[in-house]
Amino acid sequence: MFITVPDSVISQMLQDPERTEGLIYGRLLDGGDVAQIVGITEAAGIYLGRWQQAGVAEGGGAIAIGELRLQVEEGPPLRATASLHTADGWQPLECDVIRLRADYAARLRGLFEADRLANTCIAVIGLGSGGSVVASQLARCGVGSMRLVDFDRLEVHNIARHACGLRDIGRYKTRAMRDLLLDISPSIQVETYEVNVMEDTEALAKIIDGCDLVVAATDKEDSKLAINAACWPRGIPAVYGAAYNRAFGGDVFRAIPPDGACYTCFQAVVTEFFGPPPAATTDFSAGYEDPSRMADLIAEPGLGLDVGMIALLMARVSLMTLLRNSETTLPDLPTNWLLFGNRAEWIFQQPLESMFIDVPKRADCPTCNYQAYVADALQMSVTEAAMTAKSILADIPTVQSPITRHP
Ligand SMILES: [Zn+2]
Repeated sequence: MFITVPDSVISQMLQDPERTEGLIYGRLLDGGDVAQIVGITEAAGIYLGRWQQAGVAEGGGAIAIGELRLQVEEGPPLRATASLHTADGWQPLECDVIRLRADYAARLRGLFEADRLANTCIAVIGLGSGGSVVASQLARCGVGSMRLVDFDRLEVHNIARHACGLRDIGRYKTRAMRDLLLDISPSIQVETYEVNVMEDTEALAKIIDGCDLVVAATDKEDSKLAINAACWPRGIPAVYGAAYNRAFGGDVFRAIPPDGACYTCFQAVVTEFFGPPPAATTDFSAGYEDPSRMADLIAEPGLGLDVGMIALLMARVSLMTLLRNSETTLPDLPTNWLLFGNRAEWIFQQPLESMFIDVPKRADCPTCNYQAYVADALQMSVTEAAMTAKSILADIPTVQSPITRHP
């Protein structure tokens, strides 16, 4: 039998010097091979046994066969030894003290400053095959705070390409993902929003307020434009991802206001470059999340991996964006548009080919170059346009509505 106990739980036990013993609760896994001590109250799980401060005489009381005893010692570092009560007396057990925060951060040291990410907040909008992978990867990188947005529930046909599993069927993707992220990252803060950002732009504005980055992993083009319209004027960088039809390839576009192109510019320029990809869809899920096509999916087991490649690139670009202007050995993206081909189709000459293209800012973009757009469309400045609009509105006669409100 193997015992695990987090150092935070040992701290709790030793918090009150007057208290030298108590009860332990948690989980038994793999037919009793592993006991995870989770806490010192019933809310932490099933009853496992008792804890006591090392060196303190046992407080007595009957101890049943199969109960655990955990002896804890002040640190640093905090220590614990475990034993199991058997018919032959106490049998010592292997016990691992989990130093969640310290051990977790140690894994990330070297590539970049993990602390920097601990203080960042990102919003992930769309938690399908793309967004769920991005969110779980960024949580593993140490992002401190995440706002998850999606109004769909998890269905069986999602599972092949989703970070969550069958046990989450029927749950909102936001809530299933929250539990997954809390399981991955010990200190992450997660907020969930079951909102359609197309229908509720006010909610969208509130959700992204204060974020360092927005990941747009929705499967609809118009929702990406809505995210762009909300992020750009607020100066919030955003990363947009798309997988092409049957995931033969995909792309990641990044917008960092106020410089360079926004997503509206991108959309207009993209087709000028290459024309649309064959049987194009920028829909992350089209053709993959249709239950009637499950047979096709089973026949093409590589599809999940192909979509996953694009999702991982989105996560990577998101990480680069969060770490730009900081000390890191990860180089930043050379352009704002990255294209990746899983197969040699369309513009890709060979499998696993990546291309970097810099999308220019559109001179008359209504989102990121509003003044130029107004000047071009109306032949006047923004101030003049506002004045003109005001005087037109003033000239409209007021009409008394014939409809009276019922009290
Ligand atoms: Zn633009």
